[in-house]
Amino acid sequence: MNDSFKKLGINDEIDSILKSIGYVTPTPIQEKTIPFILEGKDLIGQAETGSGKTAACAVPLVQLVDRKVNDIQALILTPTRELAIQYLNEVSSIGKPYGVKAFVVYGGFDIDIQMAKLRDGVHILVATPGRLTDIMYNRQFPLDSVKTFVIDEADEMMKMGFIEDIDFIRKCMIHRHQTLFFSATMPPPIKKLARKYLKEAEHVKLTGRRAQPENLNHCMVSVSSRDKEKALREFLAQEDISQAIIFCNTRRRAEQLAKKIKEFVGGTDFLHGGLKQHQREKILRSFRNRKIKFIITTDVMARGIDVQNVSHIINYEVSQNAEIYIHRSGRTARMGEEGVSVSFVSSGEKEKFEEIKKVSDMNKDNFKKIKYRPSRKKPRL
Ligand code: ADP
Ligand code: MG
Repeated sequence: MNDSFKKLGINDEIDSILKSIGYVTPTPIQEKTIPFILEGKDLIGQAETGSGKTAACAVPLVQLVDRKVNDIQALILTPTRELAIQYLNEVSSIGKPYGVKAFVVYGGFDIDIQMAKLRDGVHILVATPGRLTDIMYNRQFPLDSVKTFVIDEADEMMKMGFIEDIDFIRKCMIHRHQTLFFSATMPPPIKKLARKYLKEAEHVKLTGRRAQPENLNHCMVSVSSRDKEKALREFLAQEDISQAIIFCNTRRRAEQLAKKIKEFVGGTDFLHGGLKQHQREKILRSFRNRKIKFIITTDVMARGIDVQNVSHIINYEVSQNAEIYIHRSGRTARMGEEGVSVSFVSSGEKEKFEEIKKVSDMNKDNFKKIKYRPSRKKPRL
């Protein structure tokens, strides 16, 4: 009998729920953080992409809920809607059989329906900061039973745009509560800012120099910007790919590229933050169900999204910085699987890529460079 979740302080009932969903052995981050969380400590949990940070938090949170109290006892904030839904699914799969009610609020979905559900009684709430702030500005929305406040993808959330909303939400919780930050990356200035939110926090850091899994490989395709589209088409046609996520830096570029690629390559679709919410969900579902093979997208999909079958990440445009690269690449090589992150680098992007290469642990064992040569035109008749 394997009782390792139990060794961490998890009770029998939750342990058997975990077994039933295939979580028999805790991952390293789960092993390190679960005892601290159960003790009520503040914490920064840092571990590579795809290492089980969601359950590291969700499992103890479910156990900490007092099921007799019909109020929100844990609040989790995530940077994107898709991630909020995914987080809810993880919490629900553990919490529902245990009698813990979880719910999610995010933009692009009817606010009155969300409010009705909230009034119904929710123990664990997952939210995007913008929507939660909207709700709290306009309505009575008590958070005084919240015992644990969680910020997922903490470094992203501490950036401009989110920080004001998060500050506002936090100020509505003046009572003593536990605060947990999770991410694969935590650049020093952001960490300093994060510290303000935490009291005598434990810092569990399992990334060392790396925020990326060991079984992730990297490839640079050097290609002129003129040939990029053709190179991508050929790459998608020739390479042995189970599924791929292709990243562009803007919505416009992603959409334009998708339209062109679709003409030649079947099973392609695009996803970005400008689409209607139901479309976003539908496309992600089709991708997860493997009805779509290639998804062309923006960094809305770079953070946290858990997908199982992705063999290739393609950086069609080099990302703005190394953190984004790490998170994009982190959509493959999850939980011990193999994966490769391929970057199409034009001469104008070389410098930026070299910068990323330096800080994201690419070396002779995990990195290769190829030069794209356009396939020869067919001779004219
Ligand atoms: P991270 O947030 O670190 O990127 P996730 O929380 O999204 O990683 O988890 C990655 C995958 O691992 C998910 O598909 C999840 O279901 C699975 N997983 C998490 N914990 C365990 C476990 N203890 N045993 C088996 N699979 C797990
Ligand atoms: Mg995560």
